[in-house]
Amino acid sequence: MLDELCSPPNLYIDGKWVHAVGGGTRDIVNPADGTVIATIDEADRADAVTAVAAARAAFDTGGWPQTPVTERVAYLLRIADLLGEERDALARIETLDTGKTLRESYIDIDDVISVFRYYANLAVTGADRLIDTGNPAIISRVVREPVGVCALIAPWNYPLLQMSWKIAPALAAGCTMVAKPSEVTPLSTIALMRLIDRAGVPPGVVNLIQSSGGTVGSALTDTPDVDLISFTGGAATGETIARNAATHITKVALELGGKNPHIICADADFDSAVDAVLTGAFLHSGQVCSAGTRLIVHESIADDFVTELTRRARNIRIGPGMDEASETGPLVSGQHRAKVEAYVALGIAEGATLITGGSRPDDKHLQAGSYFLPTIFDDCRRWMRIVQEETFGPILTVERFTDDAEAIALGNDTAYGLAAGVRTADPARGERMVRALRHGTVWLNDFGYYTPAAEWGGFGRSGIGRELGPSGLAEYQETKHIWHNTAPAVGGWFADN
Ligand code: NDP
Repeated sequence: MLDELCSPPNLYIDGKWVHAVGGGTRDIVNPADGTVIATIDEADRADAVTAVAAARAAFDTGGWPQTPVTERVAYLLRIADLLGEERDALARIETLDTGKTLRESYIDIDDVISVFRYYANLAVTGADRLIDTGNPAIISRVVREPVGVCALIAPWNYPLLQMSWKIAPALAAGCTMVAKPSEVTPLSTIALMRLIDRAGVPPGVVNLIQSSGGTVGSALTDTPDVDLISFTGGAATGETIARNAATHITKVALELGGKNPHIICADADFDSAVDAVLTGAFLHSGQVCSAGTRLIVHESIADDFVTELTRRARNIRIGPGMDEASETGPLVSGQHRAKVEAYVALGIAEGATLITGGSRPDDKHLQAGSYFLPTIFDDCRRWMRIVQEETFGPILTVERFTDDAEAIALGNDTAYGLAAGVRTADPARGERMVRALRHGTVWLNDFGYYTPAAEWGGFGRSGIGRELGPSGLAEYQETKHIWHNTAPAVGGWFADN
């Protein structure tokens, strides 16, 4: 099934599956054991330029923006059905490519299906807004129109999910697009394109380029032919893209990283709080933009809390994502593990206390994969880089607080602002704290959940704009005011003499 959905040629341009013009290829590696699971086409700049031109033509002259909304909705629902039919294959592909457990991949695929269905439903509810100007001869309408050609750039941690948060609303809005998955994990996006092709979406509406961001990035982001860049990824790449976009005043939607505080008050239910902190920090080995990797715990319970957390962290079963016994998988690559290891060394150098983990597992069966142990640092201070920077690995830092004001101050002491969590048995305190935290999503007595119907995105350096929810559709729309005078007459502003 991996072969059928992902086999070359696997660039998808103007409705055709093509090889890269330069003949480039890339090996895709399973992070669980280092084996090559696929060899795919690797685009270069020329392919990206051709893909943008195909999307431009489909938008400007291909008729896609004028397609009745009911027709676009039918495509979205057809894609959702096809995703459902290929659910098993897609989950396997995602696990082999990213290393995440099969259980997580199934959750991802189900979420992807819901996102296509959500935007199919939302697309038909968009109504024009009528303005009462006080003049019965004037019909004043505000309408929504597709923004145009979109460059959709996604990261490696939730490859299909993040790409679907872009493709589904872009299709619903009537945009055309070029999708670029991460070079590290392109397989599930290639598979999605096969399904979009099977669904009969017209040529040029959705195009796929896979390559490194460094090679094709500027062709997608530094061009007047793209009207919107929707990017999810690291803050440094986001800055480069924003600079490129500024050259042509191209619209940008940026979903960048997060360094997400999880505040545990003394009155919180102890066991469920430990469980939530553990899951929030170590799910998918911490490679989650909203991972709760910054624990802020009340000093009166902190020692007991860290002791229990450490016991549970040591019991996490690490292994290949395809093995049902594994609770979490490897890091996405050896290169990424080296970055995480550098953060461990930094934490020690900064004076934090390494409580558990901090190294690769000893298990001889895991030596070929890029595994890393769940790691906890105690005695952390707000100025430390391991507290402030996104490590994107299984590293949890612990800070203690004495009162609610200090907890809020610590929770807001970040350049980011993507997500945060609060646990308390007191609803009034909970409400005060969630309102005071400057983050795009705040969970009260829960952590990590989302729904396609609610906006997702960040304050501060976590980005610009929102995905999901009605705002996630609005990103792909322009607002137009149409002023219609039904009884034109001479205005008489200037005297005619
Ligand atoms: P990167 O920023 O390295 O890459 C993201 C995407 O951008 C990839 O497709 C990458 O391609 C591409 N890219 C890289 N350089 C350029 C460029 N110059 N121009 C255009 N595109 C480029 O992030 P990662 O893939 O490492 O993903 C991890 C990051 O994503 C984390 O910081 C995480 O927090 C963030 N993230 C944010 C989420 C959110 O909702 N806010 C959700 C998930 C992740 P290639 O890989 O081929 O180089």
